[in-house]
Amino acid sequence: MNPTPSSSNIVTIDTAALTYNYRIVSSSLPSGVELLAMVKGDGYGHGMVESARAFAKAGCHLFGVAEACEGVWLRQAGVEGEIFVMVGFQPDAVEYFFTSNLTPVVFSADAVELLSKTAVRLGREITLHLKIDTGMSRLGVMPGEVATFAELIENLPGIRLGGLLSHFPEADNVDSPNTINAFRVYSEACRSIETQFSGIRHIANSGAVLNFPETLCDMGRAGIALYGYSPSGQWQHGKVGDTYLKPAMSFTTRIAKVKEVATGVGISYGHSYVTTRPTRLAVLPVGYEDGYSRLLSNRGEILVHGKRVPILGRVCMNLCMVDITDIEGVQAGDEAVLLGEQGDEKITADDIAAWAETISYEVLCMLGNNNQRKFI
Ligand SMILES: *Cc1c(COP(=O)(O)O)cnc(C)c1O
Repeated sequence: MNPTPSSSNIVTIDTAALTYNYRIVSSSLPSGVELLAMVKGDGYGHGMVESARAFAKAGCHLFGVAEACEGVWLRQAGVEGEIFVMVGFQPDAVEYFFTSNLTPVVFSADAVELLSKTAVRLGREITLHLKIDTGMSRLGVMPGEVATFAELIENLPGIRLGGLLSHFPEADNVDSPNTINAFRVYSEACRSIETQFSGIRHIANSGAVLNFPETLCDMGRAGIALYGYSPSGQWQHGKVGDTYLKPAMSFTTRIAKVKEVATGVGISYGHSYVTTRPTRLAVLPVGYEDGYSRLLSNRGEILVHGKRVPILGRVCMNLCMVDITDIEGVQAGDEAVLLGEQGDEKITADDIAAWAETISYEVLCMLGNNNQRKFI
């Protein structure tokens, strides 16, 4: 017997789908353009290490994480290749860039100077990439500061400028002129140091990789597309040429109880739903603590016996109720699918995102990072 029983709620990750998606996206790129796989957010909820391994199977040797600790975990798990740390680091974490061979993305003079000082002290060299703000108003130096930073980096020992990068705020929107405008700003900033710069340029996220290939430069940095979704929130857009990407995550549970209630009965906290007919309910052991948002109250749908059924009333911490009046023969212990396929029906992370007023990214992170995962 296992030392602990497994949860009724299981997130299943199809690692072959991850490998497939990386292969489809990377083989669509012009020759010479590399594809970095973003595995931050614990691989968008799919498991950082398992996702990195699945992408590596398709030839991926470039990975992106948010923090240095994630890069160290990847190394400890034996992941090879280049690992970019995207959101900076605290001064006390600087040595990990050397000991774990991580590539820092920098956007402050302090970080540049600390990396140089540490490189000298350790007798090492390190390649860093400079982030430019071309409209996210987030991390990144302003385009007018790029030349100054390039000079600072050139004049300090132990460090070298390996790349210039930026990030698009609206590449998921094919109709927005923002991406082309931001790319112009980025290109001009790169040009301002053209004579002394020999590194690579990269700006394209999934939206740009799928919709604006003219912005690919030397490397795409894809996240959501590799997990099988389009950043636009419409699964129909989640394709490369004519080939659809494959969502890799599904989320299932087992019905905890089936019960009948009469007309006019309130359901769950606040009685936000009152039955309008004699109603058969299935009670599911899934709630907001499992990443199934309370915003799905009276809005979400799940699959039982291959049919879509609606959530009735509020989603509780560990439970929610669905209407199975129209489905015969449902019993406690039957499988219910909250994300994924059952019979001919399918619920996508985009469906859940629309009901919960968010994006597939958040749905995948919330479900994947709050449940037991099974890798197949
Ligand atoms: C998350 C992230 C990406 C990937 O974005 P997707 O929309 O998931 O493709 C690319 N670059 C940076 C800097 C990021 O933080």
